[in-house]
Amino acid sequence: MSTGKRFQGKVAIVTASTEGIGLAIAKRLAQDGAHVMISSRKQKKVDAAVDQLRSEGLSVSGIVCHVAKEEHRRTLIKETLNKYGGIDILVSNAATNTHYGPLLSISESGWDKVFEVNLKATFLLVKEIAPYIEKRGGGSIVLVSSIAGFNFDILQFIGAYGTSKTAMIGLTKALVPQCAQMNIRINCIAPGLIKTKMNAGLWKNPDTYEERIKGIPMNRFGQPSECAGVVSFLCSEDASYITGETIVIAGGLSSRL
Ligand code: NAP
Repeated sequence: MSTGKRFQGKVAIVTASTEGIGLAIAKRLAQDGAHVMISSRKQKKVDAAVDQLRSEGLSVSGIVCHVAKEEHRRTLIKETLNKYGGIDILVSNAATNTHYGPLLSISESGWDKVFEVNLKATFLLVKEIAPYIEKRGGGSIVLVSSIAGFNFDILQFIGAYGTSKTAMIGLTKALVPQCAQMNIRINCIAPGLIKTKMNAGLWKNPDTYEERIKGIPMNRFGQPSECAGVVSFLCSEDASYITGETIVIAGGLSSRL
């Protein structure tokens, strides 16, 4: 639930924000007072998300951005600066999974694509946007990892995706010193099983759902809004001495590496 206008006057970029967790994060940051630039690969989805959030009275704009495309990232940044005059918050949320099965059977191109979208594009977004956040006197960055970056038992058939998500936890830590010099805090969230389109196959069918929740101590999947609240906290002054951390939002699933 929104806690008021803690981000009044701030500008946030949230990638992959036309559905699911990204849309919930965009909505929450806007409810908390930020101007939010929404984006994803498909214009239709961007238009629908912008219409939905504007109809709720929120300050959002939208643009197409496939995070692995340099030109798209450049346009995302340029349009945000043109529209709102600066950037204070980046949430890097885009990810892909190209392979479901034993890890050694993944193709080289499948492996490369997972790491290109999930890890490299995240790094490049931080590299390209951090100087603009610094120009505003500092701000906050949040990366979206996954419980799959910690727990390879429950999600054993998505090993490349999980490995890329483990690397994002490391990337968060590796970026801390330089970001601190720029007065930027960088943190990460690791959602567990959240009810979105990405894993609809696991929760839409009641039998499959009952089976999957057996291993979750809280006995349910999470909602996208339960991730968005944590991102809002991490970007806020309430988290002013927190950087380099990963918060697991997984209803009690094991998260030891
Ligand atoms: P989702 O509901 O399927 O939504 C995915 C969003 O990403 C859509 O807006 C999609 O729009 C966009 N997108 C996909 N590829 C993109 C790309 N290359 N560049 C830009 N946008 C792209 O997914 P979700 O479940 O919310 O997942 C969001 C993040 O949470 C991901 O990083 C995922 O790994 C992580 N996560 C999810 C769960 C879960 O249980 N759902 C658990 C742990 C972590 P377009 O089709 O228009 O591009």
